[in-house]
Amino acid sequence: MSEILIRNAARVVTMDAGRTEVEGGDVLIRGGVIAAVGQGLATRGTVVEAQGCVVTPGLVNTHHHLYQTLTRAVPGGQDALLFGWLKTLYPIWARFGPEEMRVSALTGLAELALSGCTMTSDHLYLYPNGARLDDTIDAAREIGLRFHPTRGAMSIGTSAGGLPPDSLVEAEPAILKDMERVVDAFHDPAEGAMVRVGLAPCSPFSVSRDLMREAALLARDKGVMLHTHLAENDEDIAYSLAQFGCRPGQYAEDLGWTGADVWHAHCVKLDGSEIDLFARTGTGVAHCPCSNCRLGSGIAPVRAMRDAGVKVALGVDGSASNDAGNLIAEARTAMLLQRVARGADAMSAREALEIATLGGARVLGRSDCGVLEPGKRADIAVWDLSGIEAAGAWDLVAALLLCGPTRVRDLFVEGRSVVRGGQIVTLDLPGVIETQNHLARRLMA
Ligand SMILES: [Zn+2]
Repeated sequence: MSEILIRNAARVVTMDAGRTEVEGGDVLIRGGVIAAVGQGLATRGTVVEAQGCVVTPGLVNTHHHLYQTLTRAVPGGQDALLFGWLKTLYPIWARFGPEEMRVSALTGLAELALSGCTMTSDHLYLYPNGARLDDTIDAAREIGLRFHPTRGAMSIGTSAGGLPPDSLVEAEPAILKDMERVVDAFHDPAEGAMVRVGLAPCSPFSVSRDLMREAALLARDKGVMLHTHLAENDEDIAYSLAQFGCRPGQYAEDLGWTGADVWHAHCVKLDGSEIDLFARTGTGVAHCPCSNCRLGSGIAPVRAMRDAGVKVALGVDGSASNDAGNLIAEARTAMLLQRVARGADAMSAREALEIATLGGARVLGRSDCGVLEPGKRADIAVWDLSGIEAAGAWDLVAALLLCGPTRVRDLFVEGRSVVRGGQIVTLDLPGVIETQNHLARRLMA
């Protein structure tokens, strides 16, 4: 079996149970897994020199809408709150098709890979003009990232009192049928899986109570995970109280949307009892700090969640509400935002890095990822700290979050090279950017 030795890193951050960091450390990859972590390791295979680098587990992104890379910085949505922002973008998204889905996904995935991400989820909840979840899965295979796509859905259009236009919603029986199709076609429960499918009605304000319940039953039947948006901002809470007569946590609990197989995006407005509910049930949270800033949603109570034992991970969220998809930058923002809310000791650089790596793997139910130790999958980020950003740094691990860089030097997924020397090696990236810009111009016309 082929071997790769990452050798002589300034620090290897393992995220193992003791949070061990190895100075002058090596990581030996054999096939798709980590064979050894230590000092002075040897191989007859390929050697990757890592002097001046920090080596970490690959970062994990737990919330995204990759298709939105085609609607970044749209003028009408730049300064709107969540609901107004959505109403601006829905008519544009209604013009997407399979090509837009595949190319926008390639763009978003490449952006994530360059920022150290080895595994990402995606929440695709609209399927106009023949688009399918399959389009994004093709893109993930092409670039070689570990992928947890979720089959999203919207079923309540404007005429039924919902937010999205009727042209973007689907009938609920058809949604459930396609959910079953994509799970059967693509979900791999095995250790080391490159694709795992989840089920993800878009939000409580765009699908019926029945669909939420049916999706939960189907997910449990198939052994897949559940994902949606929850408690994102004040409008969201007001909608829940007015329409359902309860807060979002209660709504989720009543419909079977709590448990170790569920993770919710945002959760900015969870109160104390909802935080306890999430901790008690093992329900995960995808914290999306840049999106929360961008849409003025507020500061998620991440410190309180972590202290209560809630599993917290990071999400860059859709590229139309961030509008970047840089995951290491997202980790830095998560750290800074908790400090804005709770003071300079509210979150350390190392804790933010833990949330970005191990935290993400835990939320996605991947005990085989997120840690650099023998037997775990070889998903690894190599960060070059010898550049200008960190020049003069005393603690290179903290410097990764406090200073930079914001691009990875090398990235391995399942032991395969995806980024080398700061460049994606699995894609013609200039070609992808050109096609993406061409598609964006066509949407503007
Ligand atoms: Zn989202």
